[in-house]
Amino acid sequence: MASAVAFGNVKALRAKLEDALRRLGPHPSRTADDEAATHAALAGWRHRVYRGEDLACLVVGARRVQRAHGSLGARFEADLRREGALRPALASFVASLRDAGGLGDAARTRRGAAHLLADPAGASACKRLMLFLRWMVRPADGVDLGLWDVPTSALLIPVDTHILKLGRNLGLTRATGPTWRAAEEITRALAALDPDDPVRFDFALCHMGMSQRCPSRRDPVRCEGCGVRTVCRHWPRPAAQPG
Ligand code: SF4
Repeated sequence: MASAVAFGNVKALRAKLEDALRRLGPHPSRTADDEAATHAALAGWRHRVYRGEDLACLVVGARRVQRAHGSLGARFEADLRREGALRPALASFVASLRDAGGLGDAARTRRGAAHLLADPAGASACKRLMLFLRWMVRPADGVDLGLWDVPTSALLIPVDTHILKLGRNLGLTRATGPTWRAAEEITRALAALDPDDPVRFDFALCHMGMSQRCPSRRDPVRCEGCGVRTVCRHWPRPAAQPG
C-alpha cells in the first residue's frame, strides 16, 4: 500500500497510510479476506487520485495472490524464474494483483485505479514498483526488509526526479525523463561500483538530491557541501594530485 500510493509530501502520505491502516484494523491481511468488509472500511479514504475503493481492490487482490501462492514473494519469484527477466516477470506479477482484486476492471473507469500499479510493459520507470521490490528484496538494513528470495542484482533503481537529476549530473544517463531506459542506464552505471547490489546507492543518492535541492547547474550556494560535486558534470574536475 505504501509504495503504491507513494506520491507527494511524505507527511501527508504518512497520515493517509496511518488512516488506511487504522481502518483495516490490527490484521489487515485478515480483513482483506472479506472483500465487502475491506471496501466498507476504506470507503471515503482518498489520497491524490486514489480512492478507498482502489486501495481496497489492491489489498483484496494482494491477499488472494498471497493465499494462492503462499506469499507475494513466492508468486514474484516464480514469475522471475519463468520469465528470466525483470520486466516480463513484474508485468505478470502486476497483472495477477490487478486481476485478483478487481483493480483491472476498475482501471477502465477510474484514473486512480489505473495508476495505482504502473504498467511495466510501458515506457515508465515504474518507480513505485521498483521501490516496493527494493524494500522486499534488499537485505534488512533498517530501510529495506529483505523478505524475498530474489537476487539484488536483478533490481532496477527507482527513478524519481531526484535520482534522474543526479543520474544526469553524474553522467550515469542521458535520459531526459523517468523512463525504464533511464532506470536501466543508471543501474548499469552503478553496477560498475557494485555488480551484486547496484540499487544499494538509491537511498543515499535520493536523499542527497532532496536535501541538496540540486539545481542541476553550477550554483556555489546550493552546491556547497554536495557530496558528489567532484564528479558532477557542472563543475570542473579537481586537478590530479602529483605522486
Ligand atoms: S554539485 Fe550541484 S548541480 Fe552537481 S549534483 Fe551536487 S547539487 Fe547538483
